[in-house]
Amino acid sequence: MSAYSYEVHNYDVVVVGAGGAGLRATLGMAEQGFSTACISKVFPTRSHTVAAQGGIAASLGNMGPDDWQWHMYDTVKGSDWLGDTDAMEYLAREAPKAVYELEHYGVPFSRTEEGAIYQRPFGGHTTEFGEGPPVQRTCAAADRTGHAILHTLYGQSLKNNAEFYIEYFAIDLLMSDDGICQGVLCWKLDDGSMHVFAAKMIVLATGGYGRAYFSATSAHTCTGDGGGMIARAGLPLQDMEFVQFHPTGIYGSGCLITEGARGEGGYLTNSEGERFMERYAPTYKDLASRDVVSRCMTLEIREGRGVGADSDHIHLHLNHLPPETLAERLPGISESARIFAGIDVTREPIPVLPTVHYNMGGIPTNYWGEVLAPTKSNSNAIASGIMAVGEAGCASVHGANRLGSNSLIDLVVFGRAAAIRAADVIDRDASVPAPDKRSIDATLNRFDGLRYAKGQVPTAHLRLEMQKTMQADAAVFRTGKTLSDGQKKMENVAGKLNDLCVTDKSLVWNSDLMETLELTNLMPNAIATITAAAARKESRGAHAHEDYPDRDDKNWRQHSLIWFTGSEASLSYRGVITSSLTSHNEGGIDLKKIAPKARVY
Ligand SMILES: Cc1cc2nc3c(=O)[nH]c(=O)nc-3n(C[C@H](O)[C@H](O)[C@H](O)COP(=O)(O)OP(=O)(O)OC[C@H]3O[C@@H](n4cnc5c(N)ncnc54)[C@H](O)[C@@H]3O)c2cc1C
Repeated sequence: MSAYSYEVHNYDVVVVGAGGAGLRATLGMAEQGFSTACISKVFPTRSHTVAAQGGIAASLGNMGPDDWQWHMYDTVKGSDWLGDTDAMEYLAREAPKAVYELEHYGVPFSRTEEGAIYQRPFGGHTTEFGEGPPVQRTCAAADRTGHAILHTLYGQSLKNNAEFYIEYFAIDLLMSDDGICQGVLCWKLDDGSMHVFAAKMIVLATGGYGRAYFSATSAHTCTGDGGGMIARAGLPLQDMEFVQFHPTGIYGSGCLITEGARGEGGYLTNSEGERFMERYAPTYKDLASRDVVSRCMTLEIREGRGVGADSDHIHLHLNHLPPETLAERLPGISESARIFAGIDVTREPIPVLPTVHYNMGGIPTNYWGEVLAPTKSNSNAIASGIMAVGEAGCASVHGANRLGSNSLIDLVVFGRAAAIRAADVIDRDASVPAPDKRSIDATLNRFDGLRYAKGQVPTAHLRLEMQKTMQADAAVFRTGKTLSDGQKKMENVAGKLNDLCVTDKSLVWNSDLMETLELTNLMPNAIATITAAAARKESRGAHAHEDYPDRDDKNWRQHSLIWFTGSEASLSYRGVITSSLTSHNEGGIDLKKIAPKARVY
């Protein structure tokens, strides 16, 4: 029997997360006529999506010829052939529709002279199945695209009567004994009350876990809470070894300089003033895909050609671009460079370094956003009552490496898909399930245990130890040794979760306790990352293993799945989906075009 009382709320659908993915799902569910609640630990428009600068990819062809099949090809190649073909087709095909919907909902996109949506070049986006020149595919609202999308989707969700529970922290999923998700238990941060949200469908849209690392472009709220909840619910996480380092985080602060900066003509130089990307990627140069550029920068620094007093970073030049272009197309990053690097982009280069930016891995789903519960006989089996979308999910469209501007489109395409699917699978006449008392009590007990944790280690110390370990041992380049050392260190770090001390015992605005809950979510994400990385004996996309420098499709073209029993992680694998949704003679892509080959830019 728990000492906590709670209020019960019943909805058809409860979305956890109010970033781009959560809001697009919320809006879609509300439009379908479902009673819909959206829960967020921060005010919706403060979700990390607000920081997305560069834009959202869709083959509108406003600036020159483009085709959804070229977008699909680029996504397949970007993923280093680890993405699921059906999901990548769905993404590329639906992208234009999803962007026009955003336009009609009111997103204030930048415009061409003719009044069409402005599109800029981005790394890895090309024409003619990688044979042609770079394409301008990334739709932008100046360099504040995420901001524009979030505000629009929040307004539209309110207009459609979705109900928002803001500054509620979701602690855990409420699972029945037979593995059906029946709801989620939340702690209301401003008054300390507890809330059971019962629903026919829970949609996790909790974002990434960049904060498992020391230097990340992501917000402090990106703590992988959805992944933590899934791990504790006995469901797997997928492809967690693939962590994207963005080439251009501002040296020191980690604050992002969008790839759009290179899209608008910016370029990188080393200490010799050389545009070194020309040497590594002769065709696409500074616009090769992110993993490639990050590795080249790291190599330059390692070989002694880094800039600065410690030769430990690289320069990004925008100072050759017309000041009007900078003011019109890149105002936000001009400001960030001034605030975080103290430089004037019209005169000086920006000091930059590869910085953790995005998690390709996450909660495995199909292309409808339905969470997978793979079994021995069916690797695509579906868990009941639960979906996952956005960076928390893994559909998998980004495979081993995500292309720039393919995340924002993932958020809206799959947020929208979840609602389309829900209309088919949710029984409108059924009553909302009453979550098992056992599951509610177990969640409250876990919460209470952390609240009164009386060990030796403060949460902030343990978090820092985890972040430094991940930064050092699961980095841009990895070796068998760094990974196995890192794994041992992380086991030790995770063990200290039993020795945490939480000093503030109150229930109202207790950031110590909230950060402790977040740490219990970051930890399984981090362990899954290093465990899957240590096991993968090849190099693919963002996973650059120096002992195994080549991609090995025969043995490793498969998704890794990490399951937790308590804090013990175990691994299994699931095949990559290689069939498309539409056959070639019905207008689908020719599968020969996307057959695996060497990935050069
Ligand atoms: C600086 C930066 C710039 C980027 N620029 C681009 C770009 O130009 N183009 C592009 O395609 N991608 C870009 N990305 C990537 C992209 O922005 C993110 O992948 C995407 O915004 C993630 O959206 P999301 O909806 O999945 O999650 P988020 O926007 O992170 O939102 C997560 C939501 O979940 C809620 N939440 C989490 N845990 C809990 C909990 N326990 N209880 C309650 N609520 C919870 C949060 O309150 C929040 O509302 C960028 C990323 C960064 C960091």
